[in-house]
Amino acid sequence: MLYFIGAGSGDPELLTVKGKRIIDSSDVIIYTGSLVNKELFTDIKEGAKLINSASLSLDEVLDIIFDSTAKGLSVARVHTGDPSMYGAIREQMVALDKEGIEYEVIPGVSSVFAGAAAMKKEFTLPGVTQTLILTRMAGRTPVPEAESIENLAKIQASMAIFLSIASIDELAKKLMTSYPKDTPAAVVYKASWPDQKIIVSTLECIADKVKEADINKTALVYVGRFLADEFELSKLYDKHFSHEFREAQDARR
Ligand code: SAH
Repeated sequence: MLYFIGAGSGDPELLTVKGKRIIDSSDVIIYTGSLVNKELFTDIKEGAKLINSASLSLDEVLDIIFDSTAKGLSVARVHTGDPSMYGAIREQMVALDKEGIEYEVIPGVSSVFAGAAAMKKEFTLPGVTQTLILTRMAGRTPVPEAESIENLAKIQASMAIFLSIASIDELAKKLMTSYPKDTPAAVVYKASWPDQKIIVSTLECIADKVKEADINKTALVYVGRFLADEFELSKLYDKHFSHEFREAQDARR
């Protein structure tokens, strides 16, 4: 049996209770070394094998998994944040399916949400936008043309951009093809880690600020008016608005 586990964004306390229970009882733990906090592994079983996959190829990771499961060992495959975002888990699943190895996925706190928490922001503000786009800019690996930053920017939704901080200049320019240049933009570096940094600016100025702060990896770029302070109050808590769990106060009268 193999468990794909979302490690959360960094703070070891952001690991789910279920993820922790499985990590602590696994025989073999393979983790993506670059971003997974080693503090997650302070309570692992005596004799458990802890393997950093940073320098391993897919085939090498699969060999370890096949070998371990053939011996009846339990395996935890630990990915940063939530494994469903840029986790490269599907290719592993296809190989596991072929070998008839069972697996389950335990979600984690993606850095995109840890970043929003750090900034104390809500992506879906009434009267502003009800949509969050999670994406990355084309870089060494391409992105389908329909999903270019320029195309997505037309929607004017809240946007969180992974894996693109090193090209912040180009990214900001592409975003400004539709978002006004004074649109709020923010960068969160190492969300939920002790050395977390938050930079808040506008699309026009964000690239300079990021360079001043010398940030070029492990950061998310956020853009949209959700970062500003103007919005309508939510209907959910509006006393004149009924829903499944609460009748409007004027309706009750
Ligand atoms: N599955 C991960 C994303 C992996 S891709 C998740 O859900 O968070 C790696 C990218 O995620 C990085 O380039 C960066 O853009 C972002 N990232 C990962 N951890 C981060 C963190 N703690 N703070 C800010 N961005 C982070």
